[in-house]
Amino acid sequence: MKTIDMQTGADGIAVLSIDVKDRSMNVLTPEFLEDLSAAVERLATDDAIKGAVITSGKESFLAGADLIDLVETFEQRTNAREVYEWCRGYQQTLRRLETCGKPVAAAINGTALGGGLEICLACHYRVATDRPKAVLGLPEVQVGLMPGGGGTQRLSRLIGIEPALRLITEGRDVAPAEALQLGFIDAVVPAGEEVAAAKNWLRQHAVSEQPWDRKGFRIPGGAGLMNPAAVQTQMVGMALLQKKTSHNYPAPVAIMSAVYEGSVLPMDKALEIETKYFVSLLMSPVSRNMIRTLFVSKGAADKLVRRPKRPKRREVKKLGVLGAGMMGAGIGYVAAVAGMKVVLLDTTVEKASAGKNHARSLLEQRVGKGRMTADDAAAILDRITVTGNYDELQGCELVIEAVFEDRKVKAAVTAKAEAVISQDAIFASNTSTLPITGLAEASERPQHFIGIHFFSPVEKMPLVEVIVGEATGDIAVAQALDFVQQLRKTPIVVNDSRGFYTSRVFGVYSREGMTMLAEGVNPALIENVAKNAGMPVGPLAVTDEVSLELSYHILQQTKEDLGEAYVATPADGVLRLFVEQLGRKGKRTGAGFYDYGEPAGPRGKRLWPGLMEHFPPADVQPTKDDVRKRLLYVQAIETARCLEEKVVTHPADADIGSVFGWGFPPYTGGTVSFIETEGLRRFVAEADRLAEKYGNRFKVPDSLRTMAANGATFYGAARTAKSRSAA
Ligand code: NAD
Repeated sequence: MKTIDMQTGADGIAVLSIDVKDRSMNVLTPEFLEDLSAAVERLATDDAIKGAVITSGKESFLAGADLIDLVETFEQRTNAREVYEWCRGYQQTLRRLETCGKPVAAAINGTALGGGLEICLACHYRVATDRPKAVLGLPEVQVGLMPGGGGTQRLSRLIGIEPALRLITEGRDVAPAEALQLGFIDAVVPAGEEVAAAKNWLRQHAVSEQPWDRKGFRIPGGAGLMNPAAVQTQMVGMALLQKKTSHNYPAPVAIMSAVYEGSVLPMDKALEIETKYFVSLLMSPVSRNMIRTLFVSKGAADKLVRRPKRPKRREVKKLGVLGAGMMGAGIGYVAAVAGMKVVLLDTTVEKASAGKNHARSLLEQRVGKGRMTADDAAAILDRITVTGNYDELQGCELVIEAVFEDRKVKAAVTAKAEAVISQDAIFASNTSTLPITGLAEASERPQHFIGIHFFSPVEKMPLVEVIVGEATGDIAVAQALDFVQQLRKTPIVVNDSRGFYTSRVFGVYSREGMTMLAEGVNPALIENVAKNAGMPVGPLAVTDEVSLELSYHILQQTKEDLGEAYVATPADGVLRLFVEQLGRKGKRTGAGFYDYGEPAGPRGKRLWPGLMEHFPPADVQPTKDDVRKRLLYVQAIETARCLEEKVVTHPADADIGSVFGWGFPPYTGGTVSFIETEGLRRFVAEADRLAEKYGNRFKVPDSLRTMAANGATFYGAARTAKSRSAA
């Protein structure tokens, strides 16, 4: 066996040590599944073996399925029956393990997730080590799946339906101490003592039957249709779940169904139920979209798939940040947390200090919650220097400007910084809308000028959009990507354009909401349908958050830049009315499309009643389906335009950018996966209908129409074209 080392001692105890070669962590590869099955068979049939310990030869126990393998294996199997048989294989190996008549103990020496934890649950005894950072959990729901190796049935039988469901539907992992408290492991021992502890149990207390295979077994807390507590949990739980997921995510519902249906059946039948639901999820586009974008593509982006090969990796040790406002302060904070020295510069030291205070209060919150020691917080804060003097920028490998969104101001700070920093330092702009190529005109060395676009709030948002201007060189791209990786954020690389990719597409979402408002669509309908469709915030609420004033400012700037070419939309009039006449400039000023009253927070937030007066609702309201389509299609079509114009050069970047940048619903896999899941032909036909009814912004670009006619797809075309690494 290549992935399991099996040694039987004189005492008859076999130690199975999992070590999947060529992998930094153990994962369920097809080879491992075969080896495990062979090992279990030997355990069951070799009379010399009296019992077994399962552990790992690596630092972690086993981190779950290899999702790339899983999708590939699945794609080779075309019908549900084949997929079902294949899924049953692993589950049956574990069932054989727990019913083979010999006691088996899991010595969990580190993190055990997904299929890894499922092996442990099938053992008769589980002892884990208290290694820091080791976690145990069933996180499959996070990529649209559920445990398929008996996890739903065993965990609920061990700790009760409600606690098990909470863990599995949230995909939450826990430290060994909490697992012990919850009752799904039996003991926690210091690292290195786990195998001895497992052997000890085998020698002294060995049991070779699971509680659920004993006569008269009852699930802790009860189960079944006649059990009031269980029925209550199911009914309330299901309703809450549907509210939370708006019927967009099938996995949590499948998990609940599998647990409830399985809970009244003997184990073997219950496992069949689990597989039935598991296969239904694997066959649905949601899990495959989520796996591709949230796991495979994001993983590749985090490993800097888009980075030019040269120059070699260069870390930023000293970062300059110009402008200590909302964005600059946030960028300074995350850089200091990542270990960089930060020079935070504003027009005055006082303003720069206000930016540092932002970092201070974020750190205080972390210390207050016990997530950081006061000493560590102080060290981070110490790394931030505040100043109004450009000379302090000397020695910075990278300077990012986050001053006002104004070309002249940006040009001035670029020149002042370049006069101080070295020739090979990189200068970046955090502009959200101004084309990089134009801003680079103020630079003496435009090959070292690049866009590094953060999202607000910087400390929370995981994405960074790196923008390549016409003159930007490879060194700048490489340095920018290395820097994003230092911050442990996810980068996408896009080419220059007004609003680049994310602000541009996000902008059409916000404008579609305002356009509907202007047409007399009930604002509550707009906002609620958006959230039901899976957008984190309705288009009117999000425009309030960005600020109507900023949107209006961008609109004016765009009009000025484009001149005759500018195409007005009804949203323009809405913005003008709110900013110029009504003075309702957004959430920061306490009034926008919403009122922000008492109590502060979500409960005090209400749609402004005056909306009805300014935009009387039309007698005939559109269907929910039309509102939903308008809001999602408008973003997907703008994405297709970005791909046609080569602003975005790979569908994976578009998908990652949409999900992690502005919260396009994760169940879709992103704007491109959304089009592909609808089917290109159907998508184009539907967009034509929307264009006819609501306007030309729904007209799809020619490239998409041609692709649809030829039966092609974005991902298919990207696979045959050159690799994603080419920017
Ligand atoms: P802000 O108004 O909060 O901060 C701007 C800061 O720049 C202020 O502290 C100001 O004093 C300082 N400043 C102005 N002129 C300066 C100069 N000549 N020298 C030094 N400092 C100067 O603005 P913000 O929201 O932090 O936005 C900053 C930049 O980031 C803008 O380009 C904006 O488009 C972009 N951006 C904003 C967001 C967002 O959500 N707010 C998101 C992404 C990008």
